[in-house]
Amino acid sequence: MAKYIFVTGGVTSSLGKGIIAASLAKLLQARGLSVTIQKFDPYINVDPGTLNPYEHGECYVTEDGAETDLDLGHYERFLNIYTSQANNVTTGKIYQTVINKERAGDFLGKTVQVVPHITDEIKRRMLLLGEDGKFDVVLTEIGGTVGDIESLPFIEAVRQLQWELPEEDVMVVHLTLIPYLKAAKELKTKPTQHSVKMLSETGVHPDILVCRTEEPLNNDIKRKIALFCNVKQEAVIEAMDASTIYEVPLLMLREKLDLICLRKMKIANYGEPNLDKWKGFLDKLKYPKSKVTVGLIGKYIELQDAYKSILESFIHAGAMNEVKVQVVNVHSEFITDENVVEKLQGLDGLLVAPGFGKRGIEGKIIAVKYAREHGMPFFGICLGMQMAVIEFGRNVLGLTEAHSTEMDGNTVSPVINMMEEQKKIKMMGGTMRLGAYPCEIEADSLAHQVYGTQQIIERHRHRYEFNNDYLEQYQAAGMLASGKNPETGLVEIIELSNHPFFIGVQYHPELKSTVESPAPLFVGFIDAAKKFNDKKSAQKSSSKQDALI
Ligand code: GLN
Repeated sequence: MAKYIFVTGGVTSSLGKGIIAASLAKLLQARGLSVTIQKFDPYINVDPGTLNPYEHGECYVTEDGAETDLDLGHYERFLNIYTSQANNVTTGKIYQTVINKERAGDFLGKTVQVVPHITDEIKRRMLLLGEDGKFDVVLTEIGGTVGDIESLPFIEAVRQLQWELPEEDVMVVHLTLIPYLKAAKELKTKPTQHSVKMLSETGVHPDILVCRTEEPLNNDIKRKIALFCNVKQEAVIEAMDASTIYEVPLLMLREKLDLICLRKMKIANYGEPNLDKWKGFLDKLKYPKSKVTVGLIGKYIELQDAYKSILESFIHAGAMNEVKVQVVNVHSEFITDENVVEKLQGLDGLLVAPGFGKRGIEGKIIAVKYAREHGMPFFGICLGMQMAVIEFGRNVLGLTEAHSTEMDGNTVSPVINMMEEQKKIKMMGGTMRLGAYPCEIEADSLAHQVYGTQQIIERHRHRYEFNNDYLEQYQAAGMLASGKNPETGLVEIIELSNHPFFIGVQYHPELKSTVESPAPLFVGFIDAAKKFNDKKSAQKSSSKQDALI
């Protein structure tokens, strides 16, 4: 049977519980253990698929089509493994299961209660991934902050498991904050004491405290925290602010977070951590040879979490190309024909982001036109690809009313159309075309060059698609469908034949980019941006020389 590590959070949200959990998992994995992570979210939505990105940030989609919390993205990027439907559980899912059972009469006349019925279902799901012997360790991140009303049943389930399972099979890591008060020039432990007290009152005792801090924790502070919070001093872990999240596993290694866990769980068969690839990546990330500036054209740019996986993919692809990728956020709602040059001319590449609904799409279309006409590297993802199709229809094919039926149901040129199987769907939750589908790439296309293979599998989240009635017209004018679903013919990739790098994809390559295996399209795009930048610099210096002559 697997061992279970629960990661809870105290004092405040946004302390980076997901990163700490992923870092610990990374270290255990690097020592040769097989590890997975899951997230338990206290909200009542069945999944975050119906949540606005402003509410919840990006909705991360797994290979098997689950719409999940963005922390699962961190897990996959750190561990280079796939997560699944089972790795993200919400209060909504728990209640849905219990209520369905009640309706089926499975409780045989009993009153259905939070304890034991809800907590039993939570425990069942907490243990599930560890049951088939595939994993040595299952980490579970509990969303929210200790003390929240919503997370109480989850914490209660952890309490029960601490009693029901052998002592060495369960442990709790609690993440807290040690604020530094500038006026007093002091680190303060009281919020942590309160948070641990609150956790203890629910009957759960943390084995390790990971303390987020801006200043190093000296031994006196660690001793004080240990004393008041009832943990061993060595189990008070300093988690200093890091320059990048990818440094956190190394910081945790230095603090021996993994070793303390291994010891408590009585795991003996582990090796020295093999982090060669990770360190290689980190070196390239920290010491780039040059810089490129790319524009991220989206409508949720006020909230960076909305584009989490895209931003992380840029980091992976930048390191691979040994360049620093500076991302300039351009709000699509405010791009007009008048200001587009001013807004985009300094960039080396343009990524038009995914999205839903009408707001900001005309700005996206104007941006696509700029990239197409100026030979600027262009990369459109999902809605971004659809906007590229509309732009080409309107400005190259002369279909002046070209549109997606998502935005205009009555357009005379529906170049993007709702997928046939979507038309009968009435319910919103979990009903898009979701998860991994194969795509077959045309030989000798840009996509082929970028991927180096003709068979790929990528993840999806959409209801609309390229309308194949227009395919011939598009291809004849130079927009090629270079990737298609082999079974349905659905257009997965479009590209321009007479442009250095212009590619749009119906799927989400950002969801499969990891530290160890960056998404090829991002790597290719950053490479193209680098070349574009080099060309610009060469042009600049030659015109300077001309001026001197
Ligand atoms: N709204 C578009 C669709 O449903 C694009 C979705 C997306 O960008 N993820 O097809």
